[in-house]
Amino acid sequence: MFKKILIANRGEIALRIQRACRELGIQSVVVYSEADRDAKYVKLADEAVCIGPAASSQSYLNMPAIISTAEVTDAEAIHPGYGFLSENADFAERVERSGFTFIGPTPECIRMMGDKVSAKQAMIKSGVPCVPGGEGALGEDPREIVRTARAIGYPVIIKAAGGGGGRGMRVVHTEAALLHAVQTTRSEAGAAFGNPAVYMEKFLENPRHIEIQVMADQHRNAVWLGDRDCSMQRRHQKIIEEAPAPGIPRRIIERIGERCAAACKKIGYRGAGTFEFLYENGEFFFIEMNTRVQVEHPVTELVTGIDIVQMQIRVAAMEKLPFTQRQIECRGHSIECRINAEDPYKFTPSPGRITTWHPPGGPGVRVDSHAYTNYYVPPNYDSMIGKIIVHGDTRDQALARMRIALSETVIEGISTNIPLHRELMADAKFIEGGTNIHYLEGWMSDRKQR
Ligand code: ADP
Repeated sequence: MFKKILIANRGEIALRIQRACRELGIQSVVVYSEADRDAKYVKLADEAVCIGPAASSQSYLNMPAIISTAEVTDAEAIHPGYGFLSENADFAERVERSGFTFIGPTPECIRMMGDKVSAKQAMIKSGVPCVPGGEGALGEDPREIVRTARAIGYPVIIKAAGGGGGRGMRVVHTEAALLHAVQTTRSEAGAAFGNPAVYMEKFLENPRHIEIQVMADQHRNAVWLGDRDCSMQRRHQKIIEEAPAPGIPRRIIERIGERCAAACKKIGYRGAGTFEFLYENGEFFFIEMNTRVQVEHPVTELVTGIDIVQMQIRVAAMEKLPFTQRQIECRGHSIECRINAEDPYKFTPSPGRITTWHPPGGPGVRVDSHAYTNYYVPPNYDSMIGKIIVHGDTRDQALARMRIALSETVIEGISTNIPLHRELMADAKFIEGGTNIHYLEGWMSDRKQR
């Protein structure tokens, strides 16, 4: 096992990784920007090194600064968390070339999954069902593009091969709008992602977002750890996640889960990963794979009892998975609410000093957050300041526990989206379960009109 790990991230996930290291008896080094000097995990750290100013480009994205910190602190491995450099194949390569272990998949796997066209091709080869669409990236010939769209059937969606974070996509409803949409998406993708390649697939009108968590070791073992429903989204950003996905027959989930685990073996995947699907009319369609730990990993931890971050570290240290697929059991139901420092109605960011921080507690309640009373939320990063996660024997019990947890939570000094979560936990359609990816935005525009 490693003696020391460098955590190349910030916020709640930096604290989460630090806790996993402590439990495994591993020392950890945190790197931080000048804006994060007062963060909880920096204060609690075995070692902490300031690597640059607030701007991510000069701190959390600064590869030489991170790698040289690993060198001077004698860390053996680097955990990238999520976001920042976690899905950067060049970073993974540089980490390994410098003699450290990258806690994640191989650079080749990251690269293959980072390009959505090659990811989709790999999935088709591995028997994972994908959204119907054209073969590979779109060429230049306009007649060919029109033919592809006709074969798929409108509406279609044009997506950037290198896209991410919900950007670089355009829905096309008619042939008249097609070529212009392809052109615009291409030039936007070139500017935003440095890769102008785009591809086309069927636009599904009312899908749910369902994902499968996987875990693979370096001895050809791969398992899937159940499913999550992340359909409650605003602008393609998830706000509430739960496990398992309500109302989907278990045999359909099992079939797709097994395919994901098999695909991991086929592509030589290692570590934690997530296969994201759109689910419509009883069918799954792969959209992308995330080659890292996800924000919503705790809901899977609470239903399976498996510590995903510790497992990432253990398989990176060449350990074998300590369980087989048959030993994995999902028990009860878990729900996560992401707590954002933002206006609950207008969604404008609300950084600043937290004057009161009173997190909830009680049976089945977990809070993952780096915040505390007097903590200053810097304006430089993502607005998420923590997550409230609950577990219950049933979905109804989990919902009840979340309502209680939200009612106990007091955060003053900044605005948060807690009022939004309180309303959603009382919403009849959400309580029923199975809402699609458009539900939350529809609900919000109804709320505005009221
Ligand atoms: P990103 O990497 O930017 O998150 P994804 O491929 O994961 O991009 O897609 C993000 C979201 O865009 C999905 O959760 C879904 O809401 C929507 N989307 C993507 N592809 C389709 C599609 N073929 N049909 C309908 N919606 C889609």
